[in-house]
Amino acid sequence: MTSTWDVAIVGGGHNTLVAAAYLARAGHTVTVIERLDHVGGAAVSERPWAGVDARLSRYSYLVSLLPERVIRDLGLDITLKRRRYSSYTPSPADPGRGILVDRGDDSATVASFARVTGSTDEAARFAAFYERLAPLAQTLFPTVTDPLRREKEVRAAIGDDDLFDAVTARPLGELLRASLDSDIVRGIALTDGLIGTFASADEDSLRQNRCFLYHVIGGGTGDWDVPVGGMGQVSGALEKAARAAGAEIRTGATVTAISPDGEVLLEGGETVGARLVLSGVGPAVLDRLLAAGGGAGTDAAIPEGAQLKVNMLLRRLPRLHDTSVSPEAAFAGTFHVNETLSQLESAHAAASTGSIPDPLPAEIYCHSLTDPSILGPELRESGAQTLTLFGLHVPHRLVADGRVDRDALLAAAQRSLDAVLAEPIADVLYEAPDGSPCIEARTTADLEDSLGMVGGDIFHGALSWPWADDDAPLDTPAQRWGVATLHPRVLLCGSGAQRGGAVSGIGGHNAAMAAMELLDTHSGADDRPRLESAHG
Ligand SMILES: Cc1cc2nc3c(=O)[nH]c(=O)nc-3n(C[C@H](O)[C@H](O)[C@H](O)COP(=O)(O)OP(=O)(O)OC[C@H]3O[C@@H](n4cnc5c(N)ncnc54)[C@H](O)[C@@H]3O)c2cc1C
Repeated sequence: MTSTWDVAIVGGGHNTLVAAAYLARAGHTVTVIERLDHVGGAAVSERPWAGVDARLSRYSYLVSLLPERVIRDLGLDITLKRRRYSSYTPSPADPGRGILVDRGDDSATVASFARVTGSTDEAARFAAFYERLAPLAQTLFPTVTDPLRREKEVRAAIGDDDLFDAVTARPLGELLRASLDSDIVRGIALTDGLIGTFASADEDSLRQNRCFLYHVIGGGTGDWDVPVGGMGQVSGALEKAARAAGAEIRTGATVTAISPDGEVLLEGGETVGARLVLSGVGPAVLDRLLAAGGGAGTDAAIPEGAQLKVNMLLRRLPRLHDTSVSPEAAFAGTFHVNETLSQLESAHAAASTGSIPDPLPAEIYCHSLTDPSILGPELRESGAQTLTLFGLHVPHRLVADGRVDRDALLAAAQRSLDAVLAEPIADVLYEAPDGSPCIEARTTADLEDSLGMVGGDIFHGALSWPWADDDAPLDTPAQRWGVATLHPRVLLCGSGAQRGGAVSGIGGHNAAMAAMELLDTHSGADDRPRLESAHG
């Protein structure tokens, strides 16, 4: 059977829901095709433990890059809560002391930096470092839902060539060493460059710089907020907006091939015809689907994720060695575990040679302190709390083909965490009705299996700068919006789009804008004939 649509969208991640909502609201017929039995991709809430009423953001958990424009345009019922505590970092050498970055108490913040680093100036250096970066966020973030600007325009708009070059032309390690004095504070800043990204601070590829840049520009401030109700609330609101606008959303339907002229083949033999195909799967998956449909791929590199996600439910928060900080303050923000610059570099070196980093650098945060609504009433009353651990420098090459198993990684993560706590994390884990502890690890291999993320890469591939090179072709709507493939009828619509990584909806928004230009009879004059001739 063949059905025909203006737009067929492959994959039901949050980005494609954004695109579907925009396109359907503009009057286009849209179908979204998702292989799982639910939409949302990596932006979902789930109950990992049978009989336990805790709905965790199982994969992604914090929101920074979702533009207000998308929330407003689509009328999304989403609340993002700012956290008072930015971060807490116990000293690995002496976990009895830690740095608490408390937005509500500057003097306590300064005192904690001094206690750990021995310098009364490091807090000021840390603040100055982020103040210096502020123009990047203020200039770049408002552009992410516009057609791509050229690098030279962005550089001129930022108006600080030294800063622009320090962030975009030289390895991040250089900027960190020049701006901050202590190993521990340099590490706090570096972690933003290593989320899901396997790189040394000093790597010439600058992948760490690109990841860092996206982390500091979100929302124009670099704040990472808690989605009330969990990440499933974000995708749920998007699904609702797309359905309300008239988009069809199909689940349990796997795409097996995409032809360059707009035909989508489903498992079971059904074909879906469309004037345009939007791809919400990663570029590496798209390559495979295009090859199966007789077209050339994008030659996307095989991506490699580099993280371990551990979800936990606790009876109560664990005690800290540092008695000057309450666990409620320490766990509310990002809690850095063994993430000094030198520890991160050693972990990278160990993982590069095939070993599990020891200690495994990680960051943790407690969602339920900011938003207890993800717990059922009984759990809430009992004092239970959720805990999320995001381990760094666990590249897919370690786990691929079963080389290192999930249990070994989980044990390494627990060891690392226990080293900075006053009691083992195992002692405070909540027990499910069957007596098992409420803790689960999701490796890159698990992400590949459950979400179809090749290599467990949370961004579907290496992040790109949020602008176009000065000589990049920007002739077509797809090129201008950063969603082009080799085929005019097939557009990127997910994390793999330029500016698309993370829970942002930006890939979806920009694909929808390009698609509307292409579908609109009154614009896109250059592209229209090609579309029509390929269609006919
Ligand atoms: C553990 C983890 C933690 C993260 N933490 C954060 C965070 O805190 N904040 C943040 O901003 N980002 C975070 N990210 C990244 C972010 O979640 C992703 O970049 C983003 O959700 C990707 O969205 P997407 O819509 O582009 O694609 P995806 O969410 O990957 O969705 C793609 C969809 O396509 C479907 N699909 C695949 N193949 C087919 C096929 N052949 N046919 C039909 N459907 C198919 C998949 O099932 C999936 O539903 C995290 C990711 C992970 C995995």
